[in-house]
Amino acid sequence: MTTSPSSPIDVKHLIGGDWKSASDGATFETRDPHDGALLGTVARGTADDGAEAITAARRTFDEGGWSQMAPKERAKILHQVADAVDAHREELAMLETRDGGKTITQSLHAEIPRVAHNLRFFADYVSMAANEAYPDGDLLSYVLYPPAGVVSAISPWNAPLMLATWKIAPALAFGNTVVLKPAPQTPLTANRFAEIALEAGLPPGVLNVVHGFGGEAVAGPLTSDPRVDRITFTGSSATGVKILQAAAANHTPVSAEMGGKSANIVFDDADLDVAVPMSLRAIFGGNGQVCLSGTRLLVQNSIREEFLERFTEEAPKLVVGDPKEASSFMGPLIEQRHLEKVHGYVELAQEEGGKVITGGERLTGDAYANGFYYPPTIITGLDNTSRTAREEIFGPVETVIGFDTEEEALRITNDSPYGLAGILFTENLNRAHRLAARWKAGTVWINTFFERDLRLPFGGEGISGLGREGGQYSREFFTEPRAVTIRLRK
Ligand code: NAD
Repeated sequence: MTTSPSSPIDVKHLIGGDWKSASDGATFETRDPHDGALLGTVARGTADDGAEAITAARRTFDEGGWSQMAPKERAKILHQVADAVDAHREELAMLETRDGGKTITQSLHAEIPRVAHNLRFFADYVSMAANEAYPDGDLLSYVLYPPAGVVSAISPWNAPLMLATWKIAPALAFGNTVVLKPAPQTPLTANRFAEIALEAGLPPGVLNVVHGFGGEAVAGPLTSDPRVDRITFTGSSATGVKILQAAAANHTPVSAEMGGKSANIVFDDADLDVAVPMSLRAIFGGNGQVCLSGTRLLVQNSIREEFLERFTEEAPKLVVGDPKEASSFMGPLIEQRHLEKVHGYVELAQEEGGKVITGGERLTGDAYANGFYYPPTIITGLDNTSRTAREEIFGPVETVIGFDTEEEALRITNDSPYGLAGILFTENLNRAHRLAARWKAGTVWINTFFERDLRLPFGGEGISGLGREGGQYSREFFTEPRAVTIRLRK
């Protein structure tokens, strides 16, 4: 396997097909959260850089080479890009693992394959989706889906290229041009992907990439420039509000996928051989740095002791270590600041009266010496009113809450400002349907977790999201659906 970059990568913006430094020459560093190694020196984008990228995307869109191209031709190019991603899978996976600390198993077998799948799915969707037509006597009405225009795509660090392409793939497939701003913690795969896409035949200016930070810097124009037609954002709920405020000035539509505090409910009729390992994955997979994580574990009191015994016995056995090793189940947290935030919540949990029954201290020792390692941590003794149970920690910290009845479980579950996902373990089919219908969440998984069919709507309720993407929902967002009515003559 291609290993890591041997010397730091010079990460520039990609604007109109050219690689460019920041307008003022400023840079920032991206480092490996496992050992602090310098991986790249990155263009620290200015507002001018953001505006220049929008100009390039606008010009490319208006020239029509991409936006007016027959959809099947665009699909062909996106398939070529997907094939090229497959061909570079090991390289991209190792870059992702080094830049963000994601385990190599996950990068190699889940996230980079999903990048290629995102591209293929939307390439095919464009040619296979049905269009509405309504013949009505001498009136014939139908719907056109022209591309919206220039799309700003702003993505987070926790699943960098997978989430970036979850935005780029539909935007491009429907004929838009894109300015992507990856998270500053993980800029490497976005650039390598853009390079690979150009080589595979994506025309210059169709995908532009700028690096840096939010607010007044490079991301400013991406959310406030009137030449932007759509903003697709994934990140925290707090940033989402700022983006919505900036976008409102120009009436720019925003699709926002934001934070979560999802419940994972285990009933006493659940198959514990399924529920225990799935629940472990649902909170500790990806270090709990997953928006969809089942961070509130609701266990029916009649099985609480048995379930917790098994859950608590298994959690410390999950291998935490160098994410480049195939044996590691968890890697380091993304950065020092985030480690402090996560540990701060564990301290808060204790102040609130909670008891840490496993984990709860930063991992130290040779193997963890220069990395931001935190173990699987389980907290009991808190109820759903605690801040620990209400705020997004975004780390490997599970809060366990007991309940007696189905109604009580649902009340606790829905008593949250978030509403992203839900996980349910039960063998009672009627109960599963009853709860799914009343669950405040964009996605509900029953006896499983993290399965994604890209035809389904994806998004959240409450402060977890605004709008949905996926299949037809992506088409509605990334196009301007237009009703056409013709009066036919005899
Ligand atoms: P973040 O909100 O700090 O940053 C996300 C992106 O927004 C980054 O690229 C950042 O540079 C940019 N940004 C920051 N301020 C901005 C501003 N004012 N204007 C424009 N852009 C700005 O989030 P993060 O820490 O990178 O990611 C973790 C968060 O993302 C968690 O809350 C997690 O739940 C959420 N998330 C949600 C989903 C989902 O699908 N709902 C998926 C993954 C992550």
